[in-house]
Amino acid sequence: MDVFIEPIGKLINEFSKLPGVGKKTAQRYAYKIIGMTDAEAREFAESILECKRKVRYCKICGNFTEEEVCNVCKTREKSIICVVKEPKDVVAMEKLHEYKGVYHVLHGVISPMDGVGPNDIRIKELLARIDGSVQEVIMATDADVEGEATAMYIAKLLNPLGVKVTRLAHGMPVGGELEYTDEVTLFRALTERKRI
Ligand SMILES: [Zn+2]
Repeated sequence: MDVFIEPIGKLINEFSKLPGVGKKTAQRYAYKIIGMTDAEAREFAESILECKRKVRYCKICGNFTEEEVCNVCKTREKSIICVVKEPKDVVAMEKLHEYKGVYHVLHGVISPMDGVGPNDIRIKELLARIDGSVQEVIMATDADVEGEATAMYIAKLLNPLGVKVTRLAHGMPVGGELEYTDEVTLFRALTERKRI
């Protein structure tokens, strides 16, 4: 990295920490920043800090919010809960403008290979939300091995509680991540969901 003067090398190093950003791209990003006006650079840096200051997890669903409870939890139909792996999956579902219920973000999936067990993700918190008013829980974890296993594990816990548990239909590509599933396919997967 010593072909770069120190501050530039440092900035390139920071950008290379981002997912999908290699050294070349990181270098391009760093040069772009150097080319910014002071005001632009400050705004860029401030927005990073502002996110860290203001964004937290909704205490009910676990999605990102600026307040204690997110807008979706405050305003939407609570009889259906859609369970997803990560906050970005909520965005994928919301883009459909079709789903009217609330969410539950697990912040991971069960993956024994990676040492992630049921207690390491927000399953207890999901169980705590199940009361007489919840009619359906949609398991919308990814269509990969961990996503399927997690959906089945949770279905086993919920079925005895008398809740209808459904799984997105297999229009989703096998191994497919919700985030990268196109909207038409995801819409079909949602509307054709099956009881598990
Ligand atoms: Zn919420």
